[in-house]
Amino acid sequence: RPSGDEMRKLVWEVFRTGQTLEGEIQDLKQMENYRREFIGNVSHELKTPIFSVQGFTETLLDGAVDDPSVNRSFLEKIMRNTNRLDNLARDLSHIARIETGELEMSAEPFDLRSLVEGVVESLEIKAENKNVTLQHRLPESLPKVYGDRERVRQVLVNLSDNAIKYNREGGHVEIIARLLPSDEVKITVADDGLGISPEHIPRLTERFYRVDKSRSRSQGGTGLGLAIVKHILSAHGRELMIESTPGSGSTFGFTLPAVYDGEPTNEAPTASE
Ligand code: ADP
Repeated sequence: RPSGDEMRKLVWEVFRTGQTLEGEIQDLKQMENYRREFIGNVSHELKTPIFSVQGFTETLLDGAVDDPSVNRSFLEKIMRNTNRLDNLARDLSHIARIETGELEMSAEPFDLRSLVEGVVESLEIKAENKNVTLQHRLPESLPKVYGDRERVRQVLVNLSDNAIKYNREGGHVEIIARLLPSDEVKITVADDGLGISPEHIPRLTERFYRVDKSRSRSQGGTGLGLAIVKHILSAHGRELMIESTPGSGSTFGFTLPAVYDGEPTNEAPTASE
């Protein structure tokens, strides 16, 4: 017969493992719910632009093609919607590859300046079209940083693209990098655009979460940009920091370890996720 003490241990063990199992079942149920919700969202996101393309094409074929007052705007709408589908296909394949661990993350020292300059160059036309000024501010000397250059580029593109998209006529976007006393480089993308109310902030990195659906869609948004950013940063062991004031603008930021003499100065990112 087990002693009183042993009995207590046994009961405790059953209780503890029982709870764990229950927790695991809950987790599985939760995952299944996420999966269903995700598939539901994807099919909804696909249907909307497909219906638009179908509708406008049918109207054109029914005779509108000969009406110069509408045919051009219909064709533009078709193009906008096919662009949205294209963005969605690209972002979905990204999310899928990241989540299945297929997307290899490398970790190497790289120069932030040339990366930031490339990002600014690639978004210049978009910013000009929206009459938004896109600039960068980096100190004269900045150590290299450690991470996956191509993925970090994508993080910066997604953040800067949002800062342009959710801005106002005549707005500003600035990509800033500075060395912190902790020997990390902090990179921020700041805008003086629409801003975000505090209740939305914790949910922004959820897949398909948008503050203003129609604004996001009209700008070609997929609702996946920040989810991708979060994944890439977490593969680097980093977090996305968000500060925002409705009506005056937002700042999105993250840090990367600085590298001196080829060695990162603090914890290196995981090589892959
Ligand atoms: P989307 O494709 O809709 O831009 P994201 O995942 O990149 O998707 O962003 C999610 C939502 O967060 C956006 O729909 C928008 O409502 C909000 N958001 C993101 N960046 C900004 C910003 N710089 N200013 C205001 N709102 C933003």
